[in-house]
Amino acid sequence: MAIYNPSSLKAEEFINHEEILETLAYADAHKNDRALIDAILEKAKPQKTATGYVCKGLSHREASVLLANDDPEVREEIYKIAEEIKLAFYGNRIVIFAPLYLSNYCVNGCLYCPYHLKNKHIPRKKLTQEEVKAEVIALQDMGHKRLAIEAGEDPKNNPIEYILDCIKTIYSVHHKNGDIRRVNVNIAATTVENYRKLKDAGIGTYILFQETYNKESYLYLHPTGPKHDYDYHTEAMDRAMEGGIDDVGLGVLFGLEGYRYEFAGLLMHAEHLEAVHGVGPHTISVPRVKRADDIDPDAFDNGIDDETFAKITACIRLAVPYTGMIISTRESEQVRSKLLRLGISQVSGGSRTSVGGYTTEERPHDTEQFDVSDQRSLDEVVRWLMENGHIPSFCTACYREGRTGDRFMSLCKSGQILNCCHPNALMTLTEYLEDYASTATKAIGYEMVERELQRIPKEKVRAIAKEHIEAIKSSNRRDFRF
Ligand code: SAM
Repeated sequence: MAIYNPSSLKAEEFINHEEILETLAYADAHKNDRALIDAILEKAKPQKTATGYVCKGLSHREASVLLANDDPEVREEIYKIAEEIKLAFYGNRIVIFAPLYLSNYCVNGCLYCPYHLKNKHIPRKKLTQEEVKAEVIALQDMGHKRLAIEAGEDPKNNPIEYILDCIKTIYSVHHKNGDIRRVNVNIAATTVENYRKLKDAGIGTYILFQETYNKESYLYLHPTGPKHDYDYHTEAMDRAMEGGIDDVGLGVLFGLEGYRYEFAGLLMHAEHLEAVHGVGPHTISVPRVKRADDIDPDAFDNGIDDETFAKITACIRLAVPYTGMIISTRESEQVRSKLLRLGISQVSGGSRTSVGGYTTEERPHDTEQFDVSDQRSLDEVVRWLMENGHIPSFCTACYREGRTGDRFMSLCKSGQILNCCHPNALMTLTEYLEDYASTATKAIGYEMVERELQRIPKEKVRAIAKEHIEAIKSSNRRDFRF
């Protein structure tokens, strides 16, 4: 039997099945221990320091106790702390991105994904470099600056060279005042050598969802193809970091397995990265399995309702306070509104989950990976965020200024974000308003920029930000950043 060891490089030791079962048993035994719950909540709260805030975070066991408790009063307290943490470290900014599907060729047999090899009726499509260019122009015309590229796993059709070519093409397109300044990559687990190539191509975050941490379920859900190898998949982030990628993004596909098991596994993965590499995940995504061509989400027994989903999100926020949290357009406007108050720091907008979807008018597209619940345009998403008090940010400065990995985390912890991320958000929002926004979005946006500028603490920084914002408005000068 494998022994739990967060510092081990072996999947069965850092995502240790027995430790997860013991954690769930511990959580069940203590879920109504009010003194313990209060102590855990107290530990999770942000503490004010001379320069900003610090947070201790929670262990997977502590967070699992909170998740298991079903007292509505405790739940409200968790939500309150989650919002406080989000505001302490990420302020009221929400980073915006869009997925870009490059190819749906796939040799895997994932039971929840319509791109699985045996699906013979879904059209297979792979973008040519000319088509990548056209998609990027369409995305730039919407106002996007940050993409997450997505592809199925197929060594013949989508080899690493193809992905690298696409990244090069994406960065090379400068349409009108547009450009893509950060490309995050969501492709199948690969070798250290390939991760190094991705790093050299200038990617932002490497994202890989675990789908499920339960090995038995994992093997059942991935019956064929290279993704069947649980250990290779689970150890991918260590190889990515060995290949020089500082920022990695975790996630599970909620609905496949029992959510409490997944929650404990996810936090153990984060603790493992912290123990081995000195820095936790840059982001955590919380996707839920969706209806798709050939896929009925009801076929999986572990679907979770919106309230449980919200609580999972909030408990992750308490456990890993410095990690960005992502919610995609898999979720509806209503669910996204709620989750934005519970710790989410990044959302997608105007998304298409089909190959070539940004240059094809009518929906649904036949190559779509799953149903998009939030089908609003980017302009509508930007306006909605502002109407709800969030600053839509198109900032990509950190990674371009070398603030990745632990350097990003120290910025987060230093309390300097109001002097750095805040002006960057306002400057990139101004770019969006000038170049792409509708009249209604412009009106609310400029009001927000004026108001939020006053919140920059350092007078000198405020003055420079104002100057840059004026330059953006009165000229074609773009891409100012702190
Ligand atoms: N092929 C890559 C891999 O194997 O990791 C990643 C790309 S895939 C397009 C991105 C993610 O979509 C998967 O990791 C999975 O979690 C998610 N996904 C697949 N089918 C889905 C469905 N029916 N509903 C929601 N998300 C789904």
